[in-house]
Amino acid sequence: MPAQDPEKRVHNFDEVNLGYAPQAAREEAMRCLQCKDAPCMQGCPVHVHIPDFIARIVGEDYLGAVDIILKDNRLPAICGRVCPQEEMCELCCVVGKKGLPVAIGNLERFSADVTSIQRAQRPVEKLPGPTGKQVAIIGSGPSALACAGDLVRFGHGVTVYEALHAFGGVLVYGIPEFRLPKEVVRYEVEALERLGVRFEKNVVIGMTLTLNELMTEMGYDAVYIAAGAGLPYFLGIPGEELVGIYSSNELLTRVNLMKAYQPDAVTPVLNYKDKTVAVFGAGNTALDSARTALRLGARKVSIIYRRTEAEMPARREEVQHAREEGIEFIFLAAPLEFLDNGEGWLKGVRLQRMQLGKPDASGRRRPLPLEGSEFMMDIDLAVIAIGNGTNSLLRNTPGLEFSRNDTLVVNPQTLQTTRHGVFAGGDIVTGGATVISAMGTGRQAAQSINTFLKA
Ligand code: FAD
Ligand code: SF4
Ligand code: SF4
Repeated sequence: MPAQDPEKRVHNFDEVNLGYAPQAAREEAMRCLQCKDAPCMQGCPVHVHIPDFIARIVGEDYLGAVDIILKDNRLPAICGRVCPQEEMCELCCVVGKKGLPVAIGNLERFSADVTSIQRAQRPVEKLPGPTGKQVAIIGSGPSALACAGDLVRFGHGVTVYEALHAFGGVLVYGIPEFRLPKEVVRYEVEALERLGVRFEKNVVIGMTLTLNELMTEMGYDAVYIAAGAGLPYFLGIPGEELVGIYSSNELLTRVNLMKAYQPDAVTPVLNYKDKTVAVFGAGNTALDSARTALRLGARKVSIIYRRTEAEMPARREEVQHAREEGIEFIFLAAPLEFLDNGEGWLKGVRLQRMQLGKPDASGRRRPLPLEGSEFMMDIDLAVIAIGNGTNSLLRNTPGLEFSRNDTLVVNPQTLQTTRHGVFAGGDIVTGGATVISAMGTGRQAAQSINTFLKA
């Protein structure tokens, strides 16, 4: 995949990967062996018919290719960009046993991008006659969008309620523009609007409206909760309250959603220009925060992780891009305390070296402190990116049950919660996962809601 030059791209928020030209896409597609048993499909959580869509690209039938993908995955331009393909479809590709696997994600993205204008101009799909049933969806992330798309195609009325002023969930407020342009997400939301899905922004369920009001006064026949896991975890070490320390959610939301990098932004961020920044964590969120800090003008950005590169949960491509952009990785180190400059501002961090012990419950080797290995690091700004939990707004809603991990309890087959007519999926049920798994549960919930409404 051709990409923007690293030296140039650290000064802009434009997309890093530039996409295939048709000839390059066809050459990549021709590497596919068209395996009869298609092991790649088993690696895809929604079982996209991969060899079939790739064969259409070889035959230059790009619309045919995207239509095959759309049967199983309604957001190909998004998944082609952000799915961790190296652990999913591409991991199972037989070509990958002896070299590089077929670039399935890049081809998926190509099929979606190259046909976007044609698809937008197609007449709106003919939907079955209205069933008269109304469903409310809480949240507008990938799980909500996938569920809305299927429900409206079953003939049900669908209204999506979103707390923020933009639709798309993490796709708009979390994942930066340089990995996923916001126009790609807008395109999908508009496509759903054309199908008849209603979108209401700035509505916080649990504050503006309650679940009870949706189900009684407003008369919804069913509700799908897809409110994600947007509550940041903190390290819980001394000094974490100092000025200059952000949660990754706050930094990314301010930059992605509120455009804090523009000079006239009403929700700005502290000045990153020429500053030294440390990011704690090693998932996609940490990498996104580090690369965002660089684009805000930071002089030096370090990712600090208590395990090693092998245990990093971030996508390989993101790690590679971050390295090309000059981000430093400090492995086997954990923070003990943030240091104050005497005026309430961050000036440094005290760290400790770690070593890996036996695997813990996550299956990864447990990091253990190395006695007498403390060291200091001067930093101006820090970002905490060690994961998210579910937010508490819906926690006190009568009839809903939350697990000890704060996830919403559902029946795994039907995704129905402990409350009649209320279903849930995506990160609020699974904890932080992936876009494609959130979409998968959205579609599973749509099936269950349809069965429930027809009973
Ligand atoms: P979300 O996308 O979190 O959407 C939930 C929505 O609900 C939000 O818009 C929120 O504002 C709204 N909401 C919350 N509470 C309420 C309420 N009370 N009333 C109304 N609305 C409410 N996954 C990948 O596959 N690949 C990646 O590269 C990747 N990168 C990531 C980078 C970052 C920075 C983050 C944070 C996550 C990343 N993920 C990635 C994970 C992925 O984005 C999530 O698993 C996925 O978005 C979850 O989808 P969801 O629909 O469950 O919830
Ligand atoms: Fe691969 Fe994701 Fe597409 Fe499935 S949806 S084929 S995992 S890129
Ligand atoms: Fe093609 Fe690889 Fe799938 Fe075989 S496993 S059909 S080569 S993408």
